[in-house]
Amino acid sequence: MQKTKKLLLVGGGHAHVFLIKQFYLKNIPGLEVVLVTAGQYQYYSGMAAGYVEGIYKEEDMSFDIRKMCHKSRIKYIEGRITGIDVENKCVKLENHETISFDVISADTGSEMAGKNTQGVVEYAYCVKPLENLFKLRENFIEKMGEKSQVVIVGAGAAGIEIAFALKALSCKMKKNVEVTLAHSGNLILKGYNENVREKTLKKLEKDKIKILPLSKISSVSENNLTIESGKQIKYDFLVWAAGPKSNSMYKDSGFTVDKAGYMVVNRYLQSVDYPFIFGAGDCISFSDFKYVKKVGVYAIREAPYLLNNILKFIGNEELKEYIPQIDYLAIISAGNKKGIMQYKGMAKMGRLSWKLKDYIDRGFMEKFKYYE
Ligand SMILES: Cc1cc2nc3c(=O)[nH]c(=O)nc-3n(C[C@H](O)[C@H](O)[C@H](O)COP(=O)(O)OP(=O)(O)OC[C@H]3O[C@@H](n4cnc5c(N)ncnc54)[C@H](O)[C@@H]3O)c2cc1C
Repeated sequence: MQKTKKLLLVGGGHAHVFLIKQFYLKNIPGLEVVLVTAGQYQYYSGMAAGYVEGIYKEEDMSFDIRKMCHKSRIKYIEGRITGIDVENKCVKLENHETISFDVISADTGSEMAGKNTQGVVEYAYCVKPLENLFKLRENFIEKMGEKSQVVIVGAGAAGIEIAFALKALSCKMKKNVEVTLAHSGNLILKGYNENVREKTLKKLEKDKIKILPLSKISSVSENNLTIESGKQIKYDFLVWAAGPKSNSMYKDSGFTVDKAGYMVVNRYLQSVDYPFIFGAGDCISFSDFKYVKKVGVYAIREAPYLLNNILKFIGNEELKEYIPQIDYLAIISAGNKKGIMQYKGMAKMGRLSWKLKDYIDRGFMEKFKYYE
Protein backbone atom coordinates (compact mmCIF):
# COMPACT_ATOMS: atom_id res chain seq x y z
CA MET A 1 0.00 0.00 0.00
CA GLN A 2 1.26 3.50 -0.85
CA LYS A 3 2.27 5.81 1.99
CA THR A 4 0.04 8.85 2.61
CA LYS A 5 1.57 12.03 1.17
CA LYS A 6 1.36 15.31 3.07
CA LEU A 7 0.57 18.48 1.13
CA LEU A 8 1.20 21.69 3.03
CA LEU A 9 -0.56 24.85 1.80
CA VAL A 10 1.10 28.01 3.10
CA GLY A 11 -1.09 31.12 3.10
CA GLY A 12 -4.83 31.34 2.54
CA GLY A 13 -4.46 33.59 -0.50
CA HIS A 14 -6.61 33.99 -3.61
CA ALA A 15 -5.23 30.80 -5.22
CA HIS A 16 -5.45 28.58 -2.17
CA VAL A 17 -9.11 29.39 -1.48
CA PHE A 18 -9.81 27.65 -4.80
CA LEU A 19 -7.77 24.59 -3.75
CA ILE A 20 -9.57 24.42 -0.40
CA LYS A 21 -12.92 24.35 -2.18
CA GLN A 22 -11.77 21.66 -4.63
CA PHE A 23 -10.74 19.44 -1.71
CA TYR A 24 -14.28 19.87 -0.38
CA LEU A 25 -15.73 18.73 -3.71
CA LYS A 26 -13.31 15.83 -4.12
CA ASN A 27 -11.63 13.68 -1.52
CA ILE A 28 -8.20 12.50 -2.69
CA PRO A 29 -7.32 9.15 -1.09
CA GLY A 30 -3.76 8.90 0.20
CA LEU A 31 -3.39 12.67 0.54
CA GLU A 32 -3.29 14.55 3.83
CA VAL A 33 -3.76 18.30 3.39
CA VAL A 34 -2.66 20.87 5.99
CA LEU A 35 -3.00 24.64 5.66
CA VAL A 36 -1.05 27.16 7.68
CA THR A 37 -1.96 30.81 7.37
CA ALA A 38 -1.43 34.05 9.26
CA GLY A 39 -5.11 34.73 10.06
CA GLN A 40 -8.48 33.00 10.05
CA TYR A 41 -9.99 35.46 7.59
CA GLN A 42 -8.90 36.20 4.06
CA TYR A 43 -10.27 39.21 2.17
CA TYR A 44 -11.09 39.54 -1.50
CA SER A 45 -9.22 42.57 -2.83
CA GLY A 46 -11.69 43.19 -5.68
CA MET A 47 -14.18 44.50 -3.10
CA ALA A 48 -11.70 46.39 -0.91
CA ALA A 49 -12.38 49.90 -2.22
CA GLY A 50 -16.13 49.24 -2.26
CA TYR A 51 -15.86 48.26 1.40
CA VAL A 52 -14.03 51.50 2.29
CA GLU A 53 -16.71 53.54 0.54
CA GLY A 54 -19.51 51.66 2.30
CA ILE A 55 -20.94 49.64 -0.61
CA TYR A 56 -19.91 46.23 0.75
CA LYS A 57 -19.89 44.85 4.26
CA GLU A 58 -16.98 42.97 5.79
CA GLU A 59 -18.80 39.64 5.38
CA ASP A 60 -19.36 40.28 1.64
CA MET A 61 -15.63 40.16 0.99
CA SER A 62 -14.35 37.69 3.56
CA PHE A 63 -13.51 34.01 3.50
CA ASP A 64 -13.52 32.13 6.78
CA ILE A 65 -10.47 29.98 6.03
CA ARG A 66 -10.78 27.95 9.24
CA LYS A 67 -14.38 26.99 8.47
CA MET A 68 -13.58 26.30 4.83
CA CYS A 69 -10.73 23.97 5.84
CA HIS A 70 -12.94 22.19 8.34
CA LYS A 71 -15.57 21.48 5.64
CA SER A 72 -12.84 20.35 3.25
CA ARG A 73 -11.20 17.94 5.73
CA ILE A 74 -8.04 20.05 5.78
CA LYS A 75 -6.10 20.51 9.00
CA TYR A 76 -6.03 24.26 9.75
CA ILE A 77 -3.10 25.83 11.60
CA GLU A 78 -2.99 29.53 12.39
CA GLY A 79 0.54 30.91 12.29
CA ARG A 80 3.05 32.79 10.21
CA ILE A 81 5.87 30.83 8.66
CA THR A 82 9.34 32.35 8.77
CA GLY A 83 11.24 29.95 6.55
CA ILE A 84 11.19 26.77 4.48
CA ASP A 85 13.78 24.11 5.31
CA VAL A 86 14.00 22.15 2.06
CA GLU A 87 16.55 19.65 3.31
CA ASN A 88 14.40 18.50 6.22
CA LYS A 89 11.18 19.20 4.31
CA CYS A 90 9.57 21.35 6.97
CA VAL A 91 8.53 24.96 7.55
CA LYS A 92 9.36 27.00 10.61
CA LEU A 93 6.74 29.10 12.33
CA GLU A 94 7.13 32.37 14.22
CA ASN A 95 6.41 30.48 17.46
CA HIS A 96 9.38 28.17 16.61
CA GLU A 97 7.19 25.14 15.86
CA THR A 98 7.84 23.21 12.67
CA ILE A 99 5.45 21.52 10.23
CA SER A 100 6.69 18.77 7.94
CA PHE A 101 5.57 18.18 4.34
CA ASP A 102 6.16 16.04 1.28
CA VAL A 103 4.92 18.72 -1.12
CA ILE A 104 4.37 22.39 -0.37
CA SER A 105 2.43 25.16 -2.11
CA ALA A 106 3.07 28.81 -1.28
CA ASP A 107 0.41 31.52 -1.72
CA THR A 108 1.59 34.09 0.80
CA GLY A 109 0.99 37.23 -1.28
CA SER A 110 3.17 40.30 -1.08
CA GLU A 111 3.93 42.94 1.52
CA MET A 112 3.76 46.71 1.37
CA ALA A 113 6.63 48.66 -0.17
CA GLY A 114 8.09 51.60 1.75
CA LYS A 115 6.71 50.47 5.10
CA ASN A 116 10.18 50.94 6.59
CA THR A 117 10.15 54.65 5.70
CA GLN A 118 10.51 56.54 8.97
CA GLY A 119 7.14 57.12 10.62
CA VAL A 120 4.95 55.04 8.27
CA VAL A 121 4.09 52.30 10.73
CA GLU A 122 3.30 54.86 13.46
CA TYR A 123 1.24 57.37 11.48
CA ALA A 124 -0.09 55.86 8.24
CA TYR A 125 -2.94 53.46 7.48
CA CYS A 126 -1.35 50.80 5.25
CA VAL A 127 -3.75 49.20 2.77
CA LYS A 128 -2.02 45.83 3.27
CA PRO A 129 -2.88 43.49 4.84
CA LEU A 130 -6.44 44.19 3.76
CA GLU A 131 -7.82 43.82 7.27
CA ASN A 132 -6.21 47.23 7.97
CA LEU A 133 -9.04 48.73 5.92
CA PHE A 134 -11.52 48.11 8.75
CA LYS A 135 -9.69 50.47 11.09
CA LEU A 136 -9.02 52.88 8.21
CA ARG A 137 -12.73 53.24 7.45
CA GLU A 138 -13.76 53.43 11.09
CA ASN A 139 -11.20 56.13 11.95
CA PHE A 140 -11.87 58.09 8.77
CA ILE A 141 -15.56 58.34 9.68
CA GLU A 142 -14.71 59.26 13.25
CA LYS A 143 -11.94 61.80 12.63
CA MET A 144 -12.63 63.63 9.39
CA GLY A 145 -13.88 67.18 9.67
CA GLU A 146 -14.52 69.99 7.20
CA LYS A 147 -11.40 70.70 5.07
CA SER A 148 -9.41 67.80 6.55
CA GLN A 149 -6.36 66.98 4.45
CA VAL A 150 -6.21 63.38 3.30
CA VAL A 151 -3.02 62.17 1.63
CA ILE A 152 -2.72 58.84 -0.14
CA VAL A 153 0.80 57.70 -1.00
CA GLY A 154 0.90 55.59 -4.17
CA ALA A 155 -0.83 56.10 -7.51
CA GLY A 156 -1.18 52.49 -8.62
CA ALA A 157 -4.64 50.93 -8.88
CA ALA A 158 -4.90 50.38 -5.10
CA GLY A 159 -4.01 54.00 -4.20
CA ILE A 160 -6.33 55.41 -6.85
CA GLU A 161 -9.25 53.17 -5.83
CA ILE A 162 -8.81 54.21 -2.19
CA ALA A 163 -8.60 57.91 -3.17
CA PHE A 164 -11.90 57.66 -5.07
CA ALA A 165 -13.46 55.64 -2.25
CA LEU A 166 -12.49 58.15 0.46
CA LYS A 167 -13.68 61.06 -1.64
CA ALA A 168 -17.04 59.34 -2.19
CA LEU A 169 -17.29 58.43 1.49
CA SER A 170 -16.53 62.02 2.57
CA CYS A 171 -19.27 63.29 0.22
CA LYS A 172 -21.72 60.84 1.80
CA MET A 173 -20.61 62.20 5.19
CA LYS A 174 -21.20 65.72 3.82
CA LYS A 175 -17.62 66.65 4.68
CA ASN A 176 -15.61 68.62 2.19
CA VAL A 177 -12.23 66.91 2.69
CA GLU A 178 -9.25 67.51 0.43
CA VAL A 179 -7.73 64.40 -1.09
CA THR A 180 -4.20 64.34 -2.51
CA LEU A 181 -2.41 61.48 -4.24
CA ALA A 182 1.36 61.67 -3.79
CA HIS A 183 3.60 59.33 -5.75
CA SER A 184 7.23 58.90 -6.69
CA GLY A 185 6.79 58.42 -10.45
CA ASN A 186 5.63 60.84 -13.10
CA LEU A 187 2.75 58.70 -14.43
CA ILE A 188 -0.21 57.29 -12.53
CA LEU A 189 -1.35 53.68 -13.08
CA LYS A 190 1.94 52.25 -14.29
CA GLY A 191 1.24 49.25 -16.52
CA TYR A 192 -2.21 50.44 -17.63
CA ASN A 193 -2.96 51.74 -21.12
CA GLU A 194 -2.95 55.42 -22.05
CA ASN A 195 -6.75 55.53 -22.52
CA VAL A 196 -7.34 54.33 -18.97
CA ARG A 197 -4.81 56.79 -17.61
CA GLU A 198 -6.52 59.64 -19.45
CA LYS A 199 -9.99 58.69 -18.20
CA THR A 200 -8.70 58.27 -14.67
CA LEU A 201 -6.99 61.68 -14.71
CA LYS A 202 -10.24 63.28 -15.89
CA LYS A 203 -12.20 61.62 -13.12
CA LEU A 204 -9.59 62.60 -10.50
CA GLU A 205 -9.84 66.19 -11.69
CA LYS A 206 -13.64 66.08 -11.60
CA ASP A 207 -13.51 64.78 -8.01
CA LYS A 208 -10.97 67.52 -7.14
CA ILE A 209 -8.37 64.93 -6.13
CA LYS A 210 -4.95 66.57 -6.40
CA ILE A 211 -1.95 64.67 -7.77
CA LEU A 212 1.61 65.22 -6.63
CA PRO A 213 3.97 63.33 -8.98
CA LEU A 214 7.73 62.90 -8.39
CA SER A 215 7.09 63.05 -4.65
CA LYS A 216 8.98 60.24 -2.98
CA ILE A 217 8.32 60.40 0.75
CA SER A 218 11.47 60.30 2.85
CA SER A 219 9.87 60.49 6.30
CA VAL A 220 6.57 60.84 8.07
CA SER A 221 5.85 62.56 11.34
CA GLU A 222 2.60 63.43 13.08
CA ASN A 223 0.56 65.48 10.55
CA ASN A 224 3.60 66.08 8.31
CA LEU A 225 5.18 64.33 5.33
CA THR A 226 8.65 65.14 4.06
CA ILE A 227 9.38 64.63 0.39
CA GLU A 228 12.93 63.79 -0.80
CA SER A 229 13.26 67.33 -2.20
CA GLY A 230 12.83 68.61 1.36
CA LYS A 231 9.32 69.94 0.74
CA GLN A 232 6.77 69.28 3.49
CA ILE A 233 3.10 68.35 3.15
CA LYS A 234 0.58 68.63 5.95
CA TYR A 235 -1.96 65.87 6.46
CA ASP A 236 -4.73 64.93 8.87
CA PHE A 237 -5.21 61.39 7.55
CA LEU A 238 -2.50 59.41 5.78
CA VAL A 239 -2.97 56.25 3.69
CA TRP A 240 0.01 54.20 2.49
CA ALA A 241 -0.56 52.34 -0.79
CA ALA A 242 2.97 52.29 -2.17
CA GLY A 243 2.71 48.98 -4.05
CA PRO A 244 3.85 45.40 -3.45
CA LYS A 245 7.11 44.18 -1.99
CA SER A 246 8.41 40.63 -1.60
CA ASN A 247 8.67 38.70 1.65
CA SER A 248 12.38 38.04 2.29
CA MET A 249 11.58 34.52 3.53
CA TYR A 250 12.04 32.91 0.09
CA LYS A 251 15.47 34.45 -0.48
CA ASP A 252 16.51 33.69 3.10
CA SER A 253 15.42 30.06 2.62
CA GLY A 254 17.82 29.72 -0.31
CA PHE A 255 15.40 29.86 -3.24
CA THR A 256 16.20 31.47 -6.55
CA VAL A 257 14.42 34.83 -6.46
CA ASP A 258 14.01 37.57 -9.04
CA LYS A 259 15.46 41.10 -8.68
CA ALA A 260 12.58 42.11 -6.42
CA GLY A 261 12.95 39.01 -4.20
CA TYR A 262 9.98 36.91 -5.41
CA MET A 263 10.38 33.11 -5.67
CA VAL A 264 11.08 32.08 -9.27
CA VAL A 265 8.85 29.34 -10.70
CA ASN A 266 8.69 27.58 -14.06
CA ARG A 267 5.63 27.30 -16.27
CA TYR A 268 4.33 24.43 -14.12
CA LEU A 269 4.17 26.80 -11.10
CA GLN A 270 7.02 24.81 -9.61
CA SER A 271 10.08 26.34 -7.91
CA VAL A 272 13.02 26.30 -10.33
CA ASP A 273 15.11 24.85 -7.49
CA TYR A 274 12.94 22.11 -5.98
CA PRO A 275 10.24 20.16 -7.83
CA PHE A 276 8.25 19.49 -4.62
CA ILE A 277 7.73 23.24 -4.05
CA PHE A 278 4.89 24.99 -5.86
CA GLY A 279 3.57 28.52 -5.66
CA ALA A 280 1.01 30.99 -6.99
CA GLY A 281 -0.10 34.59 -6.67
CA ASP A 282 1.96 37.61 -5.71
CA CYS A 283 4.73 35.61 -3.99
CA ILE A 284 6.01 34.06 -7.25
CA SER A 285 7.79 35.34 -10.33
CA PHE A 286 7.82 33.37 -13.59
CA SER A 287 11.18 32.62 -15.17
CA ASP A 288 9.47 32.81 -18.59
CA PHE A 289 6.68 35.37 -18.29
CA LYS A 290 7.91 38.74 -17.10
CA TYR A 291 4.63 40.51 -17.92
CA VAL A 292 2.68 38.92 -15.07
CA LYS A 293 1.59 41.58 -12.56
CA LYS A 294 0.97 41.42 -8.83
CA VAL A 295 -2.81 41.36 -9.09
CA GLY A 296 -5.33 38.92 -7.70
CA VAL A 297 -6.54 38.06 -11.21
CA TYR A 298 -3.37 36.02 -11.82
CA ALA A 299 -3.55 34.22 -8.48
CA ILE A 300 -7.11 33.17 -9.33
CA ARG A 301 -6.24 32.05 -12.88
CA GLU A 302 -3.23 30.06 -11.68
CA ALA A 303 -5.21 28.13 -9.08
CA PRO A 304 -6.64 25.28 -11.24
CA TYR A 305 -3.21 24.67 -12.82
CA LEU A 306 -1.59 24.74 -9.41
CA LEU A 307 -3.93 22.07 -8.06
CA ASN A 308 -3.71 19.91 -11.18
CA ASN A 309 0.10 20.02 -11.23
CA ILE A 310 0.44 19.29 -7.52
CA LEU A 311 -1.76 16.21 -7.90
CA LYS A 312 0.06 15.10 -11.05
CA PHE A 313 3.43 15.56 -9.33
CA ILE A 314 2.26 13.41 -6.42
CA GLY A 315 0.95 10.80 -8.86
CA ASN A 316 4.19 10.85 -10.90
CA GLU A 317 2.34 12.07 -13.95
CA GLU A 318 3.34 14.64 -16.53
CA LEU A 319 2.64 18.24 -15.47
CA LYS A 320 0.67 20.72 -17.58
CA GLU A 321 2.05 24.09 -18.69
CA TYR A 322 0.38 27.27 -17.56
CA ILE A 323 0.71 30.19 -19.98
CA PRO A 324 -0.51 33.35 -18.25
CA GLN A 325 -2.70 35.62 -20.35
CA ILE A 326 -1.14 38.94 -21.32
CA ASP A 327 -4.38 40.88 -21.38
CA TYR A 328 -7.09 40.67 -18.79
CA LEU A 329 -10.17 42.63 -17.87
CA ALA A 330 -9.32 45.20 -15.19
CA ILE A 331 -11.92 47.47 -13.64
CA ILE A 332 -10.88 50.23 -11.27
CA SER A 333 -13.52 51.28 -8.81
CA ALA A 334 -13.96 55.07 -9.21
CA GLY A 335 -16.40 55.78 -6.37
CA ASN A 336 -20.18 56.25 -6.31
CA LYS A 337 -20.70 53.01 -8.24
CA LYS A 338 -18.66 54.10 -11.24
CA GLY A 339 -15.76 52.18 -12.73
CA ILE A 340 -12.95 52.57 -15.23
CA MET A 341 -12.55 49.48 -17.35
CA GLN A 342 -9.51 48.37 -19.34
CA TYR A 343 -9.70 45.57 -21.85
CA LYS A 344 -7.45 44.99 -24.86
CA GLY A 345 -6.32 48.59 -25.20
CA MET A 346 -9.84 49.91 -24.78
CA ALA A 347 -11.07 52.02 -21.85
CA LYS A 348 -14.61 52.71 -20.63
CA MET A 349 -15.65 54.85 -17.72
CA GLY A 350 -19.04 54.90 -16.05
CA ARG A 351 -21.79 53.01 -14.25
CA LEU A 352 -21.84 50.02 -16.61
CA SER A 353 -18.17 49.29 -15.90
CA TRP A 354 -18.89 49.28 -12.18
CA LYS A 355 -21.98 47.09 -12.63
CA LEU A 356 -19.89 44.53 -14.47
CA LYS A 357 -17.22 44.62 -11.74
CA ASP A 358 -19.86 44.24 -9.03
CA TYR A 359 -21.43 41.29 -10.89
CA ILE A 360 -18.05 39.54 -11.30
CA ASP A 361 -16.95 40.20 -7.72
CA ARG A 362 -20.20 39.12 -6.07
CA GLY A 363 -20.32 36.05 -8.33
CA PHE A 364 -16.77 35.13 -7.34
CA MET A 365 -17.53 35.36 -3.62
CA GLU A 366 -20.78 33.43 -4.02
CA LYS A 367 -18.79 30.35 -5.13
CA PHE A 368 -17.11 30.20 -1.72
CA LYS A 369 -20.15 30.34 0.51
CA TYR A 370 -20.42 26.53 0.52
CA TYR A 371 -19.12 26.30 4.07
CA GLU A 372 -21.87 28.38 5.71
C1 LIG B 1 -6.50 48.03 -1.79
C2 LIG B 1 -6.17 46.97 -2.80
C3 LIG B 1 -7.05 46.71 -3.83
C4 LIG B 1 -6.75 45.74 -4.79
N1 LIG B 1 -7.67 45.50 -5.78
C5 LIG B 1 -7.43 44.54 -6.68
C6 LIG B 1 -8.39 44.23 -7.68
O1 LIG B 1 -9.45 44.87 -7.77
N2 LIG B 1 -8.11 43.23 -8.55
C7 LIG B 1 -6.93 42.52 -8.49
O2 LIG B 1 -6.74 41.62 -9.32
N3 LIG B 1 -6.00 42.79 -7.55
C8 LIG B 1 -6.20 43.77 -6.65
N4 LIG B 1 -5.27 44.04 -5.68
C9 LIG B 1 -4.05 43.22 -5.62
C10 LIG B 1 -4.37 41.93 -4.87
O3 LIG B 1 -4.75 42.24 -3.55
C11 LIG B 1 -3.19 40.97 -4.78
O4 LIG B 1 -2.60 40.83 -6.03
C12 LIG B 1 -3.71 39.62 -4.29
O5 LIG B 1 -4.20 39.73 -2.99
C13 LIG B 1 -2.64 38.57 -4.34
O6 LIG B 1 -3.22 37.38 -3.94
P1 LIG B 1 -2.34 36.25 -3.28
O7 LIG B 1 -3.17 35.03 -3.31
O8 LIG B 1 -1.02 36.19 -3.92
O9 LIG B 1 -2.07 36.73 -1.79
P2 LIG B 1 -3.00 37.36 -0.68
O10 LIG B 1 -4.39 37.50 -1.13
O11 LIG B 1 -2.29 38.56 -0.18
O12 LIG B 1 -2.98 36.26 0.45
C14 LIG B 1 -1.83 35.90 1.14
C15 LIG B 1 -2.19 35.03 2.30
O13 LIG B 1 -1.01 34.50 2.90
C16 LIG B 1 -1.03 34.72 4.32
N5 LIG B 1 0.37 34.88 4.69
C17 LIG B 1 1.20 35.88 4.34
N6 LIG B 1 2.43 35.65 4.84
C18 LIG B 1 2.36 34.47 5.49
C19 LIG B 1 3.31 33.70 6.22
N7 LIG B 1 4.56 34.09 6.34
N8 LIG B 1 2.89 32.54 6.78
C20 LIG B 1 1.61 32.13 6.65
N9 LIG B 1 0.68 32.83 5.97
C21 LIG B 1 1.05 33.98 5.40
C22 LIG B 1 -1.91 35.96 4.51
O14 LIG B 1 -2.48 35.98 5.79
C23 LIG B 1 -2.95 35.75 3.41
O15 LIG B 1 -3.97 34.89 3.85
C24 LIG B 1 -5.53 45.02 -4.72
C25 LIG B 1 -4.63 45.29 -3.67
C26 LIG B 1 -4.94 46.24 -2.72
C27 LIG B 1 -3.95 46.51 -1.61
